[in-house]
Amino acid sequence: MSDFDLFVVGGGSGGVACARRAASHGARVGLVEESRMGGTCVHRGCIPKKFLVYASHFSHDFEDAAGYGWSVGDTRFDWLKMVEAKTKELKRLEGIYRRLLNNSGVTVIDGRGSLVDTHTVSTDDEIHSAESILIATGGWPAMPDIPGIELAITSNEAFDLPALPERIVIVGGGYIACEFACIFNGLGVETLQLYRSDMILRGFDMDIREMACEEMRNAGVDVRLNMNAVKLEESSGGVVVTTTHGDVVEADQVLFAIGRDPNTDGIGLEDIGVERNHKGAVAVDSGSRSTVENIYAVGDCTDRINLTPVAIHEGRCLAESLYNNNSQTPNYDDIATAVFTQPEIGTVGMSEEEARGHYDAVDIFKTRFRPLKHTLTGRDEKVFMKLVVDKADDRVVGCHMVGDLAGELVQLLSVAIKAGATKAQFDETVAVHPTLAEEFVTMYEPDVS
Ligand code: FAD
Ligand code: NDP
Repeated sequence: MSDFDLFVVGGGSGGVACARRAASHGARVGLVEESRMGGTCVHRGCIPKKFLVYASHFSHDFEDAAGYGWSVGDTRFDWLKMVEAKTKELKRLEGIYRRLLNNSGVTVIDGRGSLVDTHTVSTDDEIHSAESILIATGGWPAMPDIPGIELAITSNEAFDLPALPERIVIVGGGYIACEFACIFNGLGVETLQLYRSDMILRGFDMDIREMACEEMRNAGVDVRLNMNAVKLEESSGGVVVTTTHGDVVEADQVLFAIGRDPNTDGIGLEDIGVERNHKGAVAVDSGSRSTVENIYAVGDCTDRINLTPVAIHEGRCLAESLYNNNSQTPNYDDIATAVFTQPEIGTVGMSEEEARGHYDAVDIFKTRFRPLKHTLTGRDEKVFMKLVVDKADDRVVGCHMVGDLAGELVQLLSVAIKAGATKAQFDETVAVHPTLAEEFVTMYEPDVS
């Protein structure tokens, strides 16, 4: 008999979720983690990122308070104090992850897992046999091959910098680049963001992209479009970046956030017939099964939708299918997502561009306004909301927002979208006043521009 029914390589969002669910159905589960239990989300992603978002928001809040009669006085941000508080909390979370796994009956092994054959995993000095193996090794920041790249940092290092830089250059126009640009800008760092193409946040609705870019610029981020970094050089004052336009810019730190590669090298996949795509992602079918019958993969290492709740969903579906006689394939429809920029972006369903390609006719409802809060603060920040409706059956197929709490709002709107709500039902819903969200149920007239 094998040592385990399931052996999981990687203790991040997907691996932990699958291991715990499988064990809860009586499977004998082993899990190996080479770094900190909890993975990217807990230690180098969502959680520490959100702490930094909160930290950076206070500078706006202090400024805004004056409009409401407050005298805030001198404020000072202590980066190392913030890093220390964050590190302490992440240690606590790691402890919780380990406890939850132990309490579920999962055998946790610290070390690096490699596949020896289709039923055997080595973890440093030990060998384990298993009926099934799950690869849940996540992703790792990509870096370009340009001179001086070793002088740059990635999001991994950004969380633990020895000091808050005075000037930072951020390269990229996706989630991480935009979030960190807003974080550092909010913390008072002179922030230059370089994006290689026409508009940041490719894949999002174009109105949202333009609005987010405008608001980020308004808030102080120097976003330069159609510009990339081609060379980095050490200077007495930090790092000098040469751009595609031949400009040179000096900064204390240069952060590259140009995507993440699946973390699948050097663990023996190719030797045992587990196929990977051109990016190195494990090729899986709709049930997360690889090209080897008893080997599965979930989460970022499969490069489907690289978000924590998706990795968890994939992991749980797999455990249900394998150990609860409850066949489930992950459902990727209408997954809501937020970009924690300032202001925030929230989106669920189709962009206008996607919907126009998909349906014969769509109606667009949109509004842009100054939130009530800022009528007294004087802050020049706007909120933008948009609904995309399939004209044939009146179904709302996309909701998009730029503004405070956008992530919170689209989480709830995604329930309505998944339930197939029509625009008429949005209109019949009585508003909560005065809120930002009420605009989503009071956009009565389609946009005719
Ligand atoms: P991971 O969480 O990366 O876990 C993989 C684990 O496997 C790691 O712990 C790694 O150490 C381990 N491992 C790798 N190889 C081996 C091996 N050979 N042996 C043993 N262990 C191994 N998503 C959101 O939904 N919301 C957010 O706000 C958000 N913010 C993010 C911010 C940043 C800066 C980053 C980088 C990502 C963010 N994400 C966010 C994405 C999210 O973190 C990932 O989608 C999620 O963590 C993927 O989970 P996973 O289990 O696939 O991989
Ligand atoms: P993204 O894929 O979101 O963005 C990568 C960016 O880098 C794009 O703007 C891309 O441009 C640009 N780029 C790619 N290659 C180069 C290059 N060689 N030179 C210059 N620019 C380049 O990746 P991120 O690293 O921002 O984040 C990784 C993933 O992590 C996200 O896609 C998301 O799934 C997840 N994440 C989720 C968060 C959330 O939920 N809030 C937060 C952070 C991360 P182009 O568009 O032109 O290809």
